[in-house]
Amino acid sequence: MTAEPYKIKMVEPIRLKSHADRLRAIAQAGYNTFLLRSEDVYIDLLTDSGTNAMSDRQWAGMMLGDESYAGARNFYHLQRAVREVYGFRHLVPTHQGRAAEHITSQLRIKPGQFVPMNMYFTTTREHVERAGGRFVDCIVDSAHDPTSDDPFKGNVDIAKLQRLADANGPESIAYISLAPAVNMAGGQPMSMANVEQVARWAEPHGIPIIFDATRAVENAYLIQQREPGYQNVTVRTILKKMMALGEGCTMSSKKDNLVNIGGFLATDNEEFFAAAKEMVVVFEGLHTYGGMAGRDMEAVARGIYEMVDDAYIASRVGQVHYLGRQLADAGVPIVTPVGGHAVFVDADRFLAHLRPEAFRAQSLAAALYTDSGVRAMERGRVSAGRDHGSGENRRPQLETVRLTIPRRVYSNLHMDYVAQSCIDLYQDRKQITGLRMVYEPASLRFFQARFEPR
Ligand SMILES: *Cc1c(COP(=O)(O)O)cnc(C)c1O
Repeated sequence: MTAEPYKIKMVEPIRLKSHADRLRAIAQAGYNTFLLRSEDVYIDLLTDSGTNAMSDRQWAGMMLGDESYAGARNFYHLQRAVREVYGFRHLVPTHQGRAAEHITSQLRIKPGQFVPMNMYFTTTREHVERAGGRFVDCIVDSAHDPTSDDPFKGNVDIAKLQRLADANGPESIAYISLAPAVNMAGGQPMSMANVEQVARWAEPHGIPIIFDATRAVENAYLIQQREPGYQNVTVRTILKKMMALGEGCTMSSKKDNLVNIGGFLATDNEEFFAAAKEMVVVFEGLHTYGGMAGRDMEAVARGIYEMVDDAYIASRVGQVHYLGRQLADAGVPIVTPVGGHAVFVDADRFLAHLRPEAFRAQSLAAALYTDSGVRAMERGRVSAGRDHGSGENRRPQLETVRLTIPRRVYSNLHMDYVAQSCIDLYQDRKQITGLRMVYEPASLRFFQARFEPR
């Protein structure tokens, strides 16, 4: 057994509000955890995006920001980090991941073309569709099954790619978008063998692979743990080997890169790079800062080296699994195997006594906050929204509450507290009576919808 490979030198106080205050806060928030004030939250597991704790070396780097308009020294540091760790030659910084997705989608998709992905991510899909592209889900079927013990639920089903190419011709595919450690499937990894298989399939058709590398390091760690032949290979080597199978990547630095803001696009494709440099100037800023301050680029550069430290990444994913194990051991239903960044509680099994129309996952997230001041996120029918055509509520196969663990922020005692609250609630689950929606925004409704108890 080992403990965290860091010690704490600065703290931010957090406070558990009284039960009466929590009841008031969640009612005022319309039983939607997105509408809570962070001051009313004790342990915040809403997201791992931009919630990372930076190291002393990253904060020291913030003081070395070169805020020149063009050619800042920190850009070259970031370029070196991307070359050395991800292996891509050309770098275009952006203010966060979705800006890199915007540029990539606009430049690489002709209207009507398909973009196969392993499941989807909200912003990635949105940018593909805005560029006239059509998203096709090519993830393996086990990704949709919360109880399957498949260790690589993030894999692509090659037969689905083949069917797409057979039906429409390979030239109808703009590129294949691969997201390691698939967020929407529960942080589920792809195996190296699968990425190699996709690359072997795509190459003769001339179809490039562009990674959404947001959580590629967490995926690399799960390969080291789960895939035969990689036990003695460093996470840094695994990451570089995987990235070498693609032509480039988009990146949200707010996840793996251990910062609070930032992103980039990186590629080996000269033409794409030239076009992206022209476009970033219009939407983000000059191609050597792309919407980022010099100091922020320095923090990303340093975070990139820290994220591939084997002890760090083992501790990060280990903490997620530590929480998952406690819940599973107590019989709380969760999505298994646990992935890289979050534990997904299966609200359908947890609140089986409620009808699905009572918004099981939303109800559970609200009850968890009231019980213990822990904030989680609904990932179920509220997030899935309505079908654009029929206007009917979509019925996703997964109805979950996501307990997302920020990097280097909480201790395992915090995890014990979260686990205990989930276990207590599970034992007392019949007191949860469900919600009905009283306000529904037209798009991305999960952010601002309001509910009342049934
Ligand atoms: C967060 C995220 C994005 C978007 O990045 P932002 O920095 O939030 O714009 C894209 N893909 C995945 C998988 C993500 O998790």
